[in-house]
Amino acid sequence: MTEIKPSLCGLTLDDLTEELRQLDEKPYRAKQILEWIYVKRVTAIDDMTNLPASLRTTLNEKFVVSQSEVVTVQGSKDTTRKFLYKLADGRYVESVLIPASPALYGERADRRTICVSSQVGCAYACKFCASGLAGFTRNLDAGEIVTQLLATEAETGEKINNIVFMGMGEPLANFKNLTKAIEIINAHWGMNIGARHFTVSTSGLAPVIKKLADIPIQVRLAISLHGATDEVRNKIMPVNEKWNIAELFEALHYWRSRKKQKITFEFILIKGINDSLEQAAILAKRAKELDAKVNLIPYNTVEGLEWERPPNRRCEAFKKILVEAGVIATLRLEKGHDIDAACGQLRLREETADGVV
Ligand code: SAH
Repeated sequence: MTEIKPSLCGLTLDDLTEELRQLDEKPYRAKQILEWIYVKRVTAIDDMTNLPASLRTTLNEKFVVSQSEVVTVQGSKDTTRKFLYKLADGRYVESVLIPASPALYGERADRRTICVSSQVGCAYACKFCASGLAGFTRNLDAGEIVTQLLATEAETGEKINNIVFMGMGEPLANFKNLTKAIEIINAHWGMNIGARHFTVSTSGLAPVIKKLADIPIQVRLAISLHGATDEVRNKIMPVNEKWNIAELFEALHYWRSRKKQKITFEFILIKGINDSLEQAAILAKRAKELDAKVNLIPYNTVEGLEWERPPNRRCEAFKKILVEAGVIATLRLEKGHDIDAACGQLRLREETADGVV
């Protein structure tokens, strides 16, 4: 087996300075290397021409700039595009690039959001989710998370300015690498994207929500709630048996005491499961308790699963109850349904084809 070298884009300025110190190199080389990666966007150590040849040789022996590469792009400019990356160990992850709709964002229509993956597979087994079907393989390291942005910008020539951790995996189950990647993407020596442009989405790992509340970066939080009561949530999200709604909300109150931005509740509407108007009324109360916004998302059907989306009029009636209770609620327009943007589906197909799983 060929040795897998760590990627330079998974290192912070401090990590890189330390690596260079161990190589008896000057600390200022770290800034030069980071400038090659994040400003000049080279993908080969040999292109870092202001480094001495001997240092380039040593770096080449120990590192690569990035391990993963884009292997497929689906969709086109102005629509949702999906990128599939092959990792150094032959696994696949995906991200989705979502353009802002001019109708919704007006002059902010140049906003480009990337939805990134944090793990290969997922251990949380939400019953409606394609990623949960295949189980958990491994965490992504920080470089594999950062590369999703670097490679997508290189491939499209477009600047990403908004990041949501809503691709494959449970980001809070990979806390160390997630927070390192956020640091690199946010840093002025890195991708220099403002903290308020990060949203971490979680199925509800209450103790880790508190840990994330304590990091100094003002990231936003989205909670995949999908049920307004324990009874409904237990049916579809096994994580609720570990941390129920009361424990989750205790962590969310802590979050509110530490961070300024409103929390968002994601609520997938699944026919006959969580779409009753009674659920809507309880959800409204819960959202008001935390001053949270609600994103309603009609369920994206997954091949092999029996769940369905409710009729549009039910989705609208559900939303009306929230709005009339004074909650900011959106019923999300469909984006990317045509290219299987629901988590995991494309990766599952490719890995099966390659015989990795
Ligand atoms: N594990 C994290 C992030 C990944 S999932 C979390 O649970 O938040 C990103 C979002 O997609 C979650 O809200 C998840 O519940 C939702 N999702 C999963 N499968 C879906 C489907 N088939 N249709 C619509 N949304 C789905």
